[in-house]
Amino acid sequence: MPRMTAWVLITGGSRGIGAATALCCAKAGWDVAINFAQDSAAAEALAARLHGLGRRALTLQADVADPAQVAEMFERLDAAGEPGARLAGLVNSAGVVAPAARLQDMDMARWRRLFDVNVMGTLLCCQQAARRMSTAHGGAGGAIVNLSSRAAEFGSAGIYVDYAATKGAVDTLTKGLARELIGEGIRVNAVRPGIIETDIHAQSGMDAAGAAASIPIQRLGRADEVAEAIAWLLSDAASYTVGALLDVAGGR
Ligand code: NAP
Repeated sequence: MPRMTAWVLITGGSRGIGAATALCCAKAGWDVAINFAQDSAAAEALAARLHGLGRRALTLQADVADPAQVAEMFERLDAAGEPGARLAGLVNSAGVVAPAARLQDMDMARWRRLFDVNVMGTLLCCQQAARRMSTAHGGAGGAIVNLSSRAAEFGSAGIYVDYAATKGAVDTLTKGLARELIGEGIRVNAVRPGIIETDIHAQSGMDAAGAAASIPIQRLGRADEVAEAIAWLLSDAASYTVGALLDVAGGR
């Protein structure tokens, strides 16, 4: 009898919050598919760590903003599954910010990229996962966790209101899709991190460390602290949690 296994696909799984989530999920017994955009060395090094924990791990390069690449990524994951394996989890962690700026100084190319990766990427991956997990299509159900941000509520004035708007879209998508899919065995939720210590802040030039004093808990968050919340939302322990936007933000 083949071992029954459940895969979780983590977009943007090679670094930052996605990589911490991959480790957390592997420790919880998931086999992990690690999506990344460019840094194959980081993805392969993480996969080796997951193998060391006794889990299956797969690296999948794809730009989540590209529908053809997303479709091919899910097909590669389908092909990798041995009998008894199934996709049961999706974490949409791939995301980008942009240099800190005021709206009047931004351009269309920047807005398109932010919305393509953060919103279209999440839509595309949710669509592919739902087609596989939905009990209406012969699937066995599953869980989806989207990465939003506390920026969705604050709006990030003077830094990146466009990025904040993408996360507002993720919040609304999460709430609507949760209600659309729960009858087909799929729970959809989101986490909304505050300021977390990852490389993403280099893209904006934001002084993340300098913001610590403005956070009630008086420090930045760690990627593993967000990962724990994501892993819980993926797990059966969160079986009655549907359409939640879980703030992991040190009181911010
Ligand atoms: P990060 O450290 O910059 O890592 C980003 C990850 O996404 C990398 O694995 C990167 O792969 C991948 N990626 C980027 N663009 C991609 C694309 N088009 N297609 C596929 N993968 C792509 O980011 P993070 O800080 O962990 O953030 C993860 C998520 O949390 C994002 O959605 C972000 O908006 C959200 N968030 C972060 C914070 C924070 O303070 N860090 C706060 C709130 C919300 P490569 O390395 O190969 O490019």
